[in-house]
Amino acid sequence: MSHVLAAVAWPYANGPRHIGHVSGFGVPSDVFSRYMRMAGHDVLMVSGTDEHGTPIQVQADAEGVTPRELADRYNRVIVEDLHGLGLSYDLFTRTTTGNHYAVVQELFEGMYRNGYIVPKTTMGAISPSTGRTLPDRYIEGTCPICGYDSARGDQCDNCGNQLDPIDLINPKSKINGETPEFVETEHFFLDLPALADVLRQWLDTREGWRPNVLRFSKNLLDDLQPRAITRDLEWGVPIPLDGWRDRSDKRIYVWFDAVIGYLSASIEWARRSGDPEAWRRWWSTDGEGKDAQTYYFMGKDNIVFHSVIWPALLAGYSGEGARDGVPGELGRLNLPTEVVSSEYLTMEGRKFSSSRRVVIYVRDFLERYDADALRYFIAAAGPESNDTDFTWAEFLRRNNDELVAGWGNLVNRSISMAAKNFGAIPPIDPAGLTEADEALLATARAGFAVVGDLIGRHRQKQAIGEAMKVVAEANKYLSEQAPWKLKDEADKPRMGTILHVALQVVSDANTLLTPFLPHSAQKVYELLGGTGVHAPMPQIVEVEDLDGGPAYPVLTGDYTQGTRWESVPLEVGRPLATPKPVFRKLDPSIVDEELARLGA
Ligand SMILES: [Zn+2]
Repeated sequence: MSHVLAAVAWPYANGPRHIGHVSGFGVPSDVFSRYMRMAGHDVLMVSGTDEHGTPIQVQADAEGVTPRELADRYNRVIVEDLHGLGLSYDLFTRTTTGNHYAVVQELFEGMYRNGYIVPKTTMGAISPSTGRTLPDRYIEGTCPICGYDSARGDQCDNCGNQLDPIDLINPKSKINGETPEFVETEHFFLDLPALADVLRQWLDTREGWRPNVLRFSKNLLDDLQPRAITRDLEWGVPIPLDGWRDRSDKRIYVWFDAVIGYLSASIEWARRSGDPEAWRRWWSTDGEGKDAQTYYFMGKDNIVFHSVIWPALLAGYSGEGARDGVPGELGRLNLPTEVVSSEYLTMEGRKFSSSRRVVIYVRDFLERYDADALRYFIAAAGPESNDTDFTWAEFLRRNNDELVAGWGNLVNRSISMAAKNFGAIPPIDPAGLTEADEALLATARAGFAVVGDLIGRHRQKQAIGEAMKVVAEANKYLSEQAPWKLKDEADKPRMGTILHVALQVVSDANTLLTPFLPHSAQKVYELLGGTGVHAPMPQIVEVEDLDGGPAYPVLTGDYTQGTRWESVPLEVGRPLATPKPVFRKLDPSIVDEELARLGA
């Protein structure tokens, strides 16, 4: 058993999340965490809402509410949506907690002491008409590196390079179209060049990463520049240095604070668990945390923050860059084992866009369809390693032809037949098993190693494909064995054997599918006569801020219960009832209905 950290990207709390957001990292990180727990590892899965920064400030201003009120609203919406999807966070919190502020400031101070955060006079953009600071992401222009014409002031989404607004060719304000003015201003910078060598050594030892992610990350090291980590802004974590602490106009930049959330959420989880030091089992480079494995899940637009900036912060705080230094009070911290980045999901051939109504929000989806239907689509056809298009026609086909006609049908017909003819799990005929029986049982048992290995290596599409192969083999077996033809009393022992084999394989396939389809896995488990928790589910709990701030909802759960990643022999004689269908067949008319809801 080892300690496994699943660090999941933090959704930005400026609106409800659409299915593109949860396809890339939400569901895949849950599949991974569920599997790792079932395989016996001690998993800590953390995330929360990212709530600082200019976009929330601007939106709150527009609505006439405080940024905190806006963040409160969408924090709750997002918590409920992730709960609806069954994402098994140990803690899903937020960045506006007292605990998060303290951890961010501790990292800032530690890095500053070690010389990896330095003050610098720089040129900042202001709006000529209002005199106010113009935040980076509200400045758009042509990327000086690749020529992409919609590069943002902080980053080019086309080539992935970090930018400064002043570098943009023909910069324009996205708020009112005017050309920004650049004036001198003082800020703190993260000295990335001083950490380049340690980052390179770390990246050179990474194994098993998706090749494009590793290549992209290494390329980023070739041209590392110091990067501003404070902004002219009121909404954020205060700068914890004398002369700065009490200023209301300067704040730590949102990306710097949000990325520290993985650590602060782990510490919050530990404080709430009754053992405030428990987080060290996943984070400390010595003691129990020494062999911990840490996996970070995100979309590809966020690779730079996880493969360069976050490890740079961890190394700098630990005193490991070119300026050396000493670790802060949290000690030396583990760098990521792997950065697991997904590609983009599009919708009916277009980019998701809330303003253009090319979108379906998680909430709306879950009102009309089951969580596992979406989870199945994401696992089988999501943007794991290629940009992928979500179409309603394909969603319908996957649901009806694969989930309902494949897996649902196997569950339904095998349990129905056994319930009708035996009322219980039938025994195996003393005459024994045929070659076909043995072959099917062996196929299912072999699935545990194959599917588990693939999930462990973040090949979930292949993994669910292998699990569904077991399902297909079992359906083929039932068709060939045709137990419904064995109506004579003399044939009943053989019928029982076939159904016993089929039900055993249903049970095994259900375990193989549990990380992907936890809601239906619990139902199938109960249909087979199982009692108690098979697939544990998260809960929404209202908690007090540990450091005196306002209360808030978190997503958490007890995941120590649940089925292990192994074949469990079915108990002969366990009562069975005629099952209700586990999956819903969808009417083809939903395709036109959903397309009509999308903007033209
Ligand atoms: Zn570019």
